[in-house]
Amino acid sequence: MDWIQPADRLKQLPPYLFMEIDRLKVEVQAKGVDIIDLGVGDPDLPTPAHILNRLNQAALDPKNHRYPSYSGMNDFRKVVASWYQRRFNVTLDPEKEVVTLIGSKEGIAHFPLAFLNPGDLALVSSPGYPVYHIGTLFAGGQSYFLPLLKENRFLPDLSQIPKEVAGRGKILFLNYPNNPTAAVADRVFFEQVVRFARENQVIVAHDAAYSEIAYDGIRPMSFLEIPGAKEVGIEFHSLSKTYNMTGWRIGFAVGNPLLIAGLSRIKSNIDSGAAQAIQWAGIDALEGPQDCLTELNAIYQKRRDLMVAGLKKIGLRLEAPKATFYLWVEVPKGYTSTRTTAHLLEQTGIVTTPGNGFGDPGEGYFRISLTVPEDRLEEAVVRLSKAGF
Ligand SMILES: *Cc1c(COP(=O)(O)O)cnc(C)c1O
Repeated sequence: MDWIQPADRLKQLPPYLFMEIDRLKVEVQAKGVDIIDLGVGDPDLPTPAHILNRLNQAALDPKNHRYPSYSGMNDFRKVVASWYQRRFNVTLDPEKEVVTLIGSKEGIAHFPLAFLNPGDLALVSSPGYPVYHIGTLFAGGQSYFLPLLKENRFLPDLSQIPKEVAGRGKILFLNYPNNPTAAVADRVFFEQVVRFARENQVIVAHDAAYSEIAYDGIRPMSFLEIPGAKEVGIEFHSLSKTYNMTGWRIGFAVGNPLLIAGLSRIKSNIDSGAAQAIQWAGIDALEGPQDCLTELNAIYQKRRDLMVAGLKKIGLRLEAPKATFYLWVEVPKGYTSTRTTAHLLEQTGIVTTPGNGFGDPGEGYFRISLTVPEDRLEEAVVRLSKAGF
């Protein structure tokens, strides 16, 4: 069967850098070690009950058993627009400036198909969520990586992009609050982004999946709060992290009507929209009481404080994150990212993610996810003190 060959787009996929840690995890597990998995970025807590009740009701209604509309139910898009107004003071036209997604990953992956031609350049912040680069590759484009460095508070330095590259760039992918560095962007940075996009005629694709997961009274911004942002950009959102809904697959994109129309056109030829019962659940999530979110952030904040203290105690360097449920930790002296994660797994049974797996500029860091209960984090802290760093 050697005539069955994957297409070049699969062959050109970057090597899967978490392979080694996955293999080690299986090996350590086979020895009977009790693994504490701080690797995956998937909330451990259930979807709030009022959202599930709506989903249950909606699932029983035959109207919701049929094909949904391609761009999303009118009710859902209206609720998204009013949420944006309440939360960010940004006005959106629910008909033209909102599209429902089957999770934001789906929208991000499909977006380059609508706006990149083969050979076109995307500017991709790195380390980063892998889908920006892979979506670019699948559209036949190329990525120019913008390093996120500690000295720049993990914001890309747009002034360092060569003129020729900036001129060729078609899409700029950004993500704040950021996975994996946990950095938060401020107004000044987003203003620079809008200026850069206008000057160079680059589309801004901002991934705001973690806009609601934040601590210490911080309320992360929408990129669309900046005057002129809607002329150049699109923002991707997800209900996954905000309402513990990763399994249900529901998100949305908002912004420039031409960008929304292009993405919708690709989607209408590939999928048939998000299940209506799940959109009804999404409506209740966005419109319903938000105490669940306050409680969720309080839980993550407690976990964060516990873990940051434990890591600092053994001499590891990191900043306590103001948003996201990740800790971005500097590796100990003499270690690389992969050596650190392998050492932790073998010596303590703790799974973490090597920073270089998110792109070369992530070398020198590893990522810890706070999506496990407090008692397991306490156990992790005890084990870390014996890690021998
Ligand atoms: C989790 C995550 C998403 C995707 O979430 P969906 O479940 O597809 O909505 C998007 N971007 C980042 C940075 C994420 O971490």
